[in-house]
Amino acid sequence: MSGTLEGFGLLFWVISFFYVAVAILFILGLKKMSSPVTASGGIKWAGLGMVLATLVTFLIPAQNPLIPGFGPFSTNTPVLFAGEKWLNLVLIIVAIAIGGGLAAYLGKVVKMTDMPQMVAVYNGMGGGAAALIAAVEFAGGNVHSTLVAILAVLGSLIGSVAFSGSVVAFMKLQGIMKKTFRLPAQNAWNIGLALVAVVLAVLIVVYIGEAWVTWLLILFFVLSLFLGVILTSPIGGADMPVVISLLNAFTGLAVGFEGYVLGNPALIIAGIVVGASGTLLTKLMAKAMNRPIKNVIFTPITGEAQGGEIEGSMKEIQAMDAAAAMRYAEKVIICPGYGMAVAGAQHKVWEMTKLLEEVGVEVKFAIHPVAGRMPGHMNVLLAEAGVPYDMIFDLDEINDEFPTADVALVIGANDTVNPVARTDKSSPIYGMPILDADKAQQCIVIKRGQGTGYSGVQNALFFADNTSMLYGSAQQVVADVIAALKTLV
Ligand code: NDP
Repeated sequence: MSGTLEGFGLLFWVISFFYVAVAILFILGLKKMSSPVTASGGIKWAGLGMVLATLVTFLIPAQNPLIPGFGPFSTNTPVLFAGEKWLNLVLIIVAIAIGGGLAAYLGKVVKMTDMPQMVAVYNGMGGGAAALIAAVEFAGGNVHSTLVAILAVLGSLIGSVAFSGSVVAFMKLQGIMKKTFRLPAQNAWNIGLALVAVVLAVLIVVYIGEAWVTWLLILFFVLSLFLGVILTSPIGGADMPVVISLLNAFTGLAVGFEGYVLGNPALIIAGIVVGASGTLLTKLMAKAMNRPIKNVIFTPITGEAQGGEIEGSMKEIQAMDAAAAMRYAEKVIICPGYGMAVAGAQHKVWEMTKLLEEVGVEVKFAIHPVAGRMPGHMNVLLAEAGVPYDMIFDLDEINDEFPTADVALVIGANDTVNPVARTDKSSPIYGMPILDADKAQQCIVIKRGQGTGYSGVQNALFFADNTSMLYGSAQQVVADVIAALKTLV
């Protein structure tokens, strides 16, 4: 390879040095994100890596030295300054200014509860960008080797599926698409379309360079986008976390492939890191739901199923009753869910916790892996409110403790505490591990009314003999409990 590097001299080494630095920043940033204590530092490191990667890209020579013989131009001038390419430079700077400005603005104004939708949008844009890179490289006649062609079509297929799938996921999370859609013989469609896409991909690789392949490419992109839509549309309810992390892994993979197509190490590394972490997250989410990934795709939870009828009635209590039950308890386990996020009740919950601790009550937080609407949603909210990390426990760590708790306080959680998942084989959430709030001596549930959770399945916990319902929006209800507690301490 050294022969191909002649003439690039210092520039090559400068670029390589910075790309290695970028890779280190990405990987260390991700490592730091694995703990809530260091996560905000991790975001900054990865962000710095991204800025550096963007700046260094401006220096890339027209003849890319990192992949021998590959590159659209034959000079060693940085590609953006070669010939009349300065116009590209202006366009790129304008695009960065618009995109960066919009992202900075949205980052500030988007509410915590809308973060999952924002993540879906960004994920879709990553996949779409990867597919577009391939489209541009094909259109510009820059795909010169079979390996590059294979990676370009693979990246296009996966990137397009990630793009259109993420758009559907966004619409579901945003409530724009309220129903799930299944085609007749859905699985046959999924498999059939995927096979046609693979056949088209093979034809494109074999006949690349022929004029008619352009039409094949257009058909291939349309088909891949359609595949993303029909794969994601039937998935709903409790399967959504798995599908979101799967799309995330797809985007990473597509970006990694297109990184090779462009001969850009930063893109390859970023793609591999996202693809690998997305794959691990998908595995974790699937395990948390006790759902093999193939079941999520081929026999998804539709989000409309109700399961069997539940007998009994819900018993209502008032804030003072709940305050008294917790004031005189030895141990309280709090199970937060999506409703706490919607109500923005986390600060009040922490205030209430401190009051209980002051009078000697042991309080712990139990976090279900899919509580809320994005991985780690509850951890982020509780950390933001100042809850110490050693009070927060994962499902596996705390489930055995529920029988020893005097009170399980469920705040805006529903699917994640639904015992039907343990008992009712006809229920679509059957088999999903849940927080065993029903096993506490007493369970108090804070929610606004009779609404079901995200999966649409009725909750047997609310009808149990040891469960009481404390109705109202979580922030106001917890404020009322705090006021009542203050009269008891
Ligand atoms: P759920 O979505 O099952 O239930 C939330 C409950 O909160 C509802 O029953 C609602 O009842 C109540 N609620 C809504 N607003 C308020 C409010 N202002 N105050 C008090 N309560 C309120 O929540 P869980 O966290 O238990 O479960 C998460 C679900 O979301 C799972 O099914 C999961 O699969 C899915 N999901 C998770 C994702 C993830 O990555 N974590 C991504 C996408 C989906 P009411 O209307 O009566 O108040």
